[in-house]
Amino acid sequence: MTLMFYNTLSRKKEKFIPIEKNHVRLYTCGPTVYDSAHIGNFRTFLFEDLLKRLLLFKNYSVTHIMNITDIDDKTIRRSNEDGITLKELTHKYTDLFFSDSTWLKILPADKYPKATDHINEMIQMIQKLLDRGFAYVANDKSVFFKISNYPDYGKLIYIKSNLLQSSNRIADDEYEKDSPQDFALWKAYKPADGDVWWDSPWGKGRPGWHIECSAMSMKYLGQYFDIHCGGVDNIFPHHENEIAQSCAATSANFVKMWMHSEHLQIEGDKMSKSEGNFYRIEDLKKQGYTPEVIRFLLLNGHYRTKLNFSLSKRTEAEQAIQRIINIKSKLKTFKIKEENKSGPISEHQKNFISALEDDLDTPKALAILYIWIKDTFKEIDKNNFNKINVQAGLNFLEVVENLLGIIPPKINIPEKIQKLVDKRLYAKKKKNWEVADLIRQELIDLGWKLEDTVDGTVCKPI
Ligand code: AMP
Ligand code: ZN
Repeated sequence: MTLMFYNTLSRKKEKFIPIEKNHVRLYTCGPTVYDSAHIGNFRTFLFEDLLKRLLLFKNYSVTHIMNITDIDDKTIRRSNEDGITLKELTHKYTDLFFSDSTWLKILPADKYPKATDHINEMIQMIQKLLDRGFAYVANDKSVFFKISNYPDYGKLIYIKSNLLQSSNRIADDEYEKDSPQDFALWKAYKPADGDVWWDSPWGKGRPGWHIECSAMSMKYLGQYFDIHCGGVDNIFPHHENEIAQSCAATSANFVKMWMHSEHLQIEGDKMSKSEGNFYRIEDLKKQGYTPEVIRFLLLNGHYRTKLNFSLSKRTEAEQAIQRIINIKSKLKTFKIKEENKSGPISEHQKNFISALEDDLDTPKALAILYIWIKDTFKEIDKNNFNKINVQAGLNFLEVVENLLGIIPPKINIPEKIQKLVDKRLYAKKKKNWEVADLIRQELIDLGWKLEDTVDGTVCKPI
């Protein structure tokens, strides 16, 4: 099946055809490094990770760029509040972002350009916009984009043209979509900026947030590239303004497909750093969450629907993952003479992939996976399984892991522990409950716990 993705620009699901054959150029808006990324941010980063994993699975080569926003209103404000330099603040949170992403098994981008390393590219682009009559220098020597000179303004958010008569301008990076205004490309220096400034043809200052992504995406992916992603809050003003600046500077198209993930909510409210109602990866790690459980919880909802995060769903996610582990070990221990890596592709695997190919329908894909697990256990119990089925099953699980990253790596149970587990099982068979309980305690003392699941008892490190 061909890939179908929902394009925010057309408000339709479209067949995905890359601009260059077999090669996809992908830009994803990265973190603003003034604080730890929260799991809402990671919902968006995981949706982008899934998209990339699927493109790779379909044998496209992918060039993926994710920027690091290390200069904007929020980073400056926070470094002043914390009494540290901008660099100290942004280095700390950039490092944390990388370690959280790696822990969550997010595939790395090809490059993570930092805004502060691309000020020249931004200045050049702003100059182009001035030369072409799409920008003007204000009295304070800030530079603004003039939206009324760009007739296509509003094409991503579908703003009505009468709203564009506004002659106001806004210096802030973020504002509401009911009052589109001339926005800042370059912000003249203010004392609150401290020692954060660069020279420019218009005087001391710093770039606006939106120009950062236009300049960096075009530098690394070319003027016109395939997919640009972010969360829905990026649609306006950030992505609308990126389109306006980029298209006005080049007189060409900028991005073929815009994809946005809905927000993660916490008990019904948007999870956001500025509201303070959020969980960091660190918080969840401390509570014993694994990367697979977090990935499962965040991928369990379709990326275009709001998803509510609740700690109460953890057990459900752990049980779901445990079922995958159980079927995997059942298949692995099924007696097969030799591995035949090129085993057949099951119908379930085909349906699982088709669901993801249809605008990344993860809830449907997971439902197919769980039906397959149930059926597979039944077939094995009925002795209807042969080595071809086993290999097909193991191949399917490999595909699931490559696409979703929800299967934990194999736990190596030491021989001594396995012997105790077997001894306890034997004691239980003989209805020798006292010995079974003693062995359970001995295992706990050695740092291993036993858990009963629908598919039998499993042994895990505590
Ligand atoms: P920021 O660090 O604020 O620049 O955000 C990084 C990414 O996370 C952007 O793509 C945002 O759109 C996205 N994002 C922010 N809040 C949420 C949320 N509650 N749920 C999902 N994505 C979010
Ligand atoms: Zn961006």
